[in-house]
Amino acid sequence: ISESRIADTWTKTTCGYCSVGCGMLVGTRNGRPVAARGNPDHPVNLGKLCPKGLSEHLMIEAAGRATTPMLRRGGRGTPLEPISWDKALEVMVTRIGSIQERFGNDSLGVISTGQLVTEEFYTLGKLVQLGFRSRNYDGNTTLCMASAVSGYKLSFGSDGPPGSYADMETADVVLLIGANIADNHPILCNRLRKKPGQMLIVVDPRVTKTAMMADLHLPVKPRSDIALVNGIAHILLRDGLVDREYIREHVEGLDEFVSFVADYTPEAVSATTGLTIETIEKVARLYGEAKSAFIGWTMGVNHSTQGAHTVAAINNLAMITGNIGRTGSAPFSITGQCNAMGSRESSFTSALPGYRKFDNPEDRKALAALWKIEEEELPTARGLAYPDIIEAAVKEQVKAIWIIATNPVVSFPNLNLLKHAFETTEFVVVQDGFYPTPTMDYADLVLPAAIWGEKEGTYTNSERRISKVNAFAVPPGEARSDFDIFLGLAERLGVKDRLFPGWSSTHDAWLEWQKVSAGRMCDYSQFTWQQIEDEGGKQWGGERLYGDGQFPRENGRALLHCVPCLPFVEQPNTEFDLILNTGRTVEHWHTRTKTGAVAMLDAMSPNAWLEMNPADAERLSLRQHDRVTVRSRRAYVRDVELRITGIVAPGQVFMPFHFAEQNSNLVTLGAFDPISREPNFKQCAVCVERSALK
Ligand code: SF4
Repeated sequence: ISESRIADTWTKTTCGYCSVGCGMLVGTRNGRPVAARGNPDHPVNLGKLCPKGLSEHLMIEAAGRATTPMLRRGGRGTPLEPISWDKALEVMVTRIGSIQERFGNDSLGVISTGQLVTEEFYTLGKLVQLGFRSRNYDGNTTLCMASAVSGYKLSFGSDGPPGSYADMETADVVLLIGANIADNHPILCNRLRKKPGQMLIVVDPRVTKTAMMADLHLPVKPRSDIALVNGIAHILLRDGLVDREYIREHVEGLDEFVSFVADYTPEAVSATTGLTIETIEKVARLYGEAKSAFIGWTMGVNHSTQGAHTVAAINNLAMITGNIGRTGSAPFSITGQCNAMGSRESSFTSALPGYRKFDNPEDRKALAALWKIEEEELPTARGLAYPDIIEAAVKEQVKAIWIIATNPVVSFPNLNLLKHAFETTEFVVVQDGFYPTPTMDYADLVLPAAIWGEKEGTYTNSERRISKVNAFAVPPGEARSDFDIFLGLAERLGVKDRLFPGWSSTHDAWLEWQKVSAGRMCDYSQFTWQQIEDEGGKQWGGERLYGDGQFPRENGRALLHCVPCLPFVEQPNTEFDLILNTGRTVEHWHTRTKTGAVAMLDAMSPNAWLEMNPADAERLSLRQHDRVTVRSRRAYVRDVELRITGIVAPGQVFMPFHFAEQNSNLVTLGAFDPISREPNFKQCAVCVERSALK
């Protein structure tokens, strides 16, 4: 190692990509990042990092950072030009003010992210609701974990993953449904099969890397997971593999549930899922007879028009077997982004801050008193969710959109409709750490933001662990932290002293958030920043929730839901004869705004690909590495590299969604869960043909 790469200072922080929340140490030399390694003392990762974490410091000085505010003076199609911060904030407040005067406060839609620190989410929620006075604020977390949030609320009365990573490690049986954690949560994956004899069962239509690790892989037909879960419940009830006492004391809805799952016989479930009756019986027995059983899930469950109900169906299994609130026993959503949890706890995206209910008079009164505002200023219901903001823009009801640290022009389904929405929106602001992003093609104003490594605060990971995030570099050029941008806007709006009195740093937001969360389920008031940093993070709610069998519903009981397995929205036909599944790869994060800028990661995975079963390739006369066009009823994406592989079953194809150049979201379906509003990214009907030569 050359001397120039030997660090003179090491800064403790937390990885800013996924929700595993690995502790890390970033080495700097003369103030410049030169190295990264896992923090050996952090309980989440014990010194390990995946390729993204190991190279995360390299994005700080990568090409393409946003360094100055930019304004498109001449309208769409003309270039963005540098302007001062003063002018940028003035333009933003004036243009949004003018639109709101003409079309009402809710004509502003705000779409944020799961990537800010909690202190920024808390500040942004207040700013949008009480400063800009728009209710229409949501995050790209709705493309990710909204179904888990809604499912927890349906079953238990509140959001909050009930277990911990330690439960996954200590369970006798781990059942993963729609969760390819080997690619998407690699360091968490390391904790599987540590316990001698632990049985790993993976439910996934695709033979993912995680499925390859399993004792038992269940390659169910797409979206038949609900039938499988109901079928397991049927067998558990039939064979008495349930915890009668737990149900009697803590669960309601059993009679109706028993009649409902009676139809989900092993024979019926075998026909729906494509699994053998023996396999279904075996999995049910393994789960039901285990002393401790953990069910983890992620996007394979959430990305569905039945996502929220699928989560509730999974929770049913934990409830009837009493596999909740005990060591090694939990239903557990494995979150996507590093701070999706912080966002859902502290801002207005799914509840009032501190998991307060929009329609609970006591919650409203308490929050209004803490903020010294009138209760009437608080929204009485959540505003438009992300997909509904886009739909309202299409209908020209939302006329201004502020996009923060996300890249919808790559990540949203059925992209052409979203592009149309942005084209017709009167004023679009994009705030991001990189320039340009594909979304900025539609921006009237660009605000350059600091990124991970350049600001301080906290993230909360999948197991509710609050970890400290520290700065080790200064933002490039004139880029400012999102927090400073929010305060600058508050100042311009004339609400800074009322909403954020005396605030100058994220620590001020932390102190207020501690008061707002005190005594709530997500209670941050017990810890200081220093403690969090010194002790490798702290879990709100402790290691697991509901250990006392009390659930935050009116009668204190968890509720069993009867969830029918419905066919997915867009079935294949003779023209569109393949089912497209989308997902991720270990090297990249979301739309590659960050990982695409890190040369090492880009070189490891530079292009999109399409996986196809050899039987389909033969039928379509396609060869390995052909360039193919993937077409749906909505659009097509061309020149995708074909990978012929048994990883996908006949009739199914798979494509990663990271790549702007060959974007799977041109063809995905704009259908959404009616409860969570999460998109159905996982199944749409497509056809594939060799791309014509250009
Ligand atoms: Fe970062 Fe997630 Fe990788 Fe850990 S597993 S290093 S949190 S991207």
